[in-house]
Amino acid sequence: MDSKIECICNVLEEINGFHSINEFERFLVYIYNLVNDTDLVEIPVEIKYGGSNILQEKWYKCSGCNQKWRLVYPDFPFEGLWKEV
Ligand SMILES: [Zn+2]
Repeated sequence: MDSKIECICNVLEEINGFHSINEFERFLVYIYNLVNDTDLVEIPVEIKYGGSNILQEKWYKCSGCNQKWRLVYPDFPFEGLWKEV
């Protein structure tokens, strides 16, 4: 083991709404890099957010503590979110 932060959850913060497409796209790149670094692993969506079949959603699992996170894509006027499941 190296000396990096023991679990990525310590630096991930919940996001209630992305305020622009640019902000959301920057966040997608950030998550993509975390998956590339194996801090997060994409897993199947178990329960759709709000029971919605319209919103696009992805789930990730922390490879440190197994905490699950959900990313719900923005769909105007809904601004999307990133939060623990
Ligand atoms: Zn974690």
